[in-house]
Order: sequence, then C-alpha cells, then structure tokens
Amino acid sequence: MTLHELTIAEAGERLRAGEVSSSDLLEAALDRASLTEAQLHAYLTIDREGARETARRADADLADGIDHGPLHGVPVALKDNMCTRGVETTASSQILAGYIPPYDATVTRKLKEAGAVIVGKTNLDEFAMGSSTENSAYGTSYNPWDIGRVPGGSSGGSAAAVAIGSAFAALGSDTGGSIRQPASLTGVVGLKPTYGTVSRYGLIAFASSLDQIGPLSRSVQDAAFMLEAIWGHDPLDATSYAGEYPQPSAALDDGVSGMKVGVVKELAGEGYEPAVETAVSAMVDKLSDAGAAVVEVSLPTFDIALSAYYLIAPAEASANLARFDGVRYGHRGEGATTETLMARTRAEGFGPEVTRRVLLGTYALSAGYYDAFYGQAQKVRSAIQEDFSRAYESVDVLVSPTSPTVAFEAGARMDDPLAMYLSDICTIPSNLAGHPAISIPIGLDEQNLPIGFQVMAPALGETVMFQVAAAVETLAGFAERPVLEELAS
Ligand code: GLN
Repeated sequence: MTLHELTIAEAGERLRAGEVSSSDLLEAALDRASLTEAQLHAYLTIDREGARETARRADADLADGIDHGPLHGVPVALKDNMCTRGVETTASSQILAGYIPPYDATVTRKLKEAGAVIVGKTNLDEFAMGSSTENSAYGTSYNPWDIGRVPGGSSGGSAAAVAIGSAFAALGSDTGGSIRQPASLTGVVGLKPTYGTVSRYGLIAFASSLDQIGPLSRSVQDAAFMLEAIWGHDPLDATSYAGEYPQPSAALDDGVSGMKVGVVKELAGEGYEPAVETAVSAMVDKLSDAGAAVVEVSLPTFDIALSAYYLIAPAEASANLARFDGVRYGHRGEGATTETLMARTRAEGFGPEVTRRVLLGTYALSAGYYDAFYGQAQKVRSAIQEDFSRAYESVDVLVSPTSPTVAFEAGARMDDPLAMYLSDICTIPSNLAGHPAISIPIGLDEQNLPIGFQVMAPALGETVMFQVAAAVETLAGFAERPVLEELAS
C-alpha cells in the first residue's frame, strides 16, 4: 500500500517504528495533490512551505522523544471557512478574497497542538451553503470516483482530498449535512459531533445554532482520533459544552451484540435510489446477524425537517452575513455614500445562492411574517427533538442512508435549488436536534459510486455511535479506493 492510502493509525505505526518520517507522509500527500488537483480542485490554498516546516519540526520532536499523540506528524486539511493565522481564508466567497486572518480558529490551534501538519485549505460552497461545492466563487471541486460528478458539499474539497490521498484526514463543517453528505458521495467517513462539543471560535458562521465542525477520514478509528483532538470546552465559544465528554475510542471494538438499532421509516421510499436502499438494508441485515435487535421506528416530523431547516438556516445566515459590509474585511465596492458602498460590496461580493439565502432569511424574519415562518419553523424544530427523544426511549441508535442518491453529475441540480436542497433530507434532522451523526462508506453502486450509511445517536451519545460505526465498517469491509482514469492510463 502506498503512503497516501494509509489511515492515520497505520501511518502513526510506521512513523513510530522509524520506517517513515512526517516529511515523507507530507511529500506523499503533496505529490498526490500535484497529480490530482488539476482534475479535482479540492484545495483553494496549499501551504507547501508552512507544511514542510511543521513536518520537519514534528520529525525533530519525535527524534527528541516528544510525541503529541495520534495526529503527530500527520498531514491534514482544513475547510476554508476555518481561520488559519497568516493563511488566506475566504469561505469560497469573493467578499473575503485576500482575507488573511490574524488568528487561528480553536480547531486550528488544537490541530497544531496535536502535532498535525496542515497541508492547506479546501474548497467549499460559498459560506458552506450548498450540497455540491458548485457554489464556490473559485470553481467547482470534482469527485475522484468520477470527475464528471460532484463530491457533494459543502465540505466537498475536504472529502475529495481525503478520498484521493492529498490529505490523511480533514475538517469540515456541518450545518445541515455538509460533512456527512460529501463523505457519503466520496466513500470516506464523515462525522458531525454533538452541538457545542467542538468550538466554533474562528469558524466563519453560517447558521450558528446548527453549525458544527467535525472530521472526514479514511476510517472510523481515524475519525475518533481527529474528534478527540479538536473537541472540548472553549470559553471563546458561548455555546461550548462544559460538562464531561464521551470517550469514543474506548468502545470501538465492542460490537453490536445486544444493541437496539432503529431504522427510520421516513428516510426511505420515493426519491431514494434503489442501489442506496438495497445497500442500506443489506447492512441492516448484517447488523441483525451480528446480534443487534433491529426495529423500524417512525419519526413523522422528519418529513417536515427540511422545510424548517430552510427557514431557520437562511434566517440565521442573513443575520450572520450582515457583518460583510465592505468596511472591515475583504472586498469593498465603490460608493459615494455608506449605503451605496455597502450595497455594491454585497451585490458584487456574494454569489447567487448566498444572495438567495440572505433574501429568504430576511423575509422570514421580517415584521409581520416572523411568526408565520421563523416561529413555525422553531416549533417544528422542537417537535423533531421530541420525536427523537421518543425514539431513543426504545433504541440506542437510529440508522438510515446518508444521502438519498449517489454522487450526481456536475451541473445537474444547479438550476433547481429544491433538488439540491433535497440532498440533505437524511442529515438535517440531527442538526436541528443538535445530535451527533456519522456516515460510513458501505459499498459501491453498479457505476462504481460510493454509498454511505448514517448512524445517529442522542446528544453526547458519541461512544455508542462510534461503537456501531466501527461495527458497520467491519461488516461492510469497504476497501475500494478511487482511481482517476487519467492517472491510470
Ligand atoms: N446543503 C445544506 C445547505 O445548503 C447544508 C449545508 C451545510 O451543512 N453547511 O444549507
């Protein structure tokens, strides 16, 4: 197996056995990027020199007996909506072109402290609004399994980089599914932790009550390594969880015997591709054969979760994005008065999807419509939380497809926002409830496109979620890697 295909666990073993250096791992990832970036465009910025310097330091530390743990010396990538001191951070928006943050996001700081080597910043849909990476102001990313298709979104660059080996793992952010859906479409593991467990300090905000940072990786174990490095209480984030944290790594080998698994009735049927449904039910059968008690569970409010999300998320976005006024950051339009300057800055700086969300959100929050739209959506959010609570009285975890379809063709949903929004039908409920959920690759369809399986758990239920995810990974035995035809020929 070549270096760029190793999991973090495997790379770490070779590193500590003295067989490879962090610099070797980094060069393997950089070579991979040089070979594939022209086709995939996973990265917006690659910090070759900064990364080489960090890798050298990681090697020197290890030689001196200083070991920062599982991520020590491991090349990782960050979605470009997380601030990196001294490295451009745009959230894929024109309005932030040239913005170089003077500080690190908490997750950036924590990865550095864990000894990780930051390769660069990955592409996303502008301000993380989208499901395909096509809303980036800097060009689309493509799917390594079929470069005519999207890698999902909004963390599509992170997903493509991990799948092709130009990073060993990456961080994404998930507001309605933006880690899990691209993970599913590119055949990697992607996890959204419990709301509040990973600090949002230095994450460019989309919808603050939903946004959560989490890892994309090539194994469930690697996702646990990443999560355990980045989470924890942070006084710089007012919503940060201050209680005791679960220990997901501890339960990875415990299996599913005796576990109660609920299959969500509402997340199936019309709109779901047959290959996805077949693969998901085959996995459910395997879980049952492995000793889990499987039952079908109905959560009726899941049918209206998407509608509630598309009021709440734009409403919060319209408030969060008000700060981009041309005065403090990035792009500034021409204007003789403050008002025209701000209006031009925003008209020139925001792409069409972001503009649509700001308009939708402002409308939903406006006097006279507030109760009918935003207020109603908040009620639905509470009802979804109640539905989940009821379900978790009888099951330990809930399972479903991660995405109703495999990776779709580039351009296929760009003229139909509703079709694009439907990509997140399975992932949104966990965001509205603040619960953790993970996507694990379980196989390929007849066109060689990956299919993901979602495991959801109650708030702070990461340990049981990882336990089931690790079992799913073993039962699936998914070991295929994408081969870019252009590289193979
Ligand atoms: N696709 C969803 C949206 O466009 C989710 C995005 C996300 O999770 N950041 O809102």
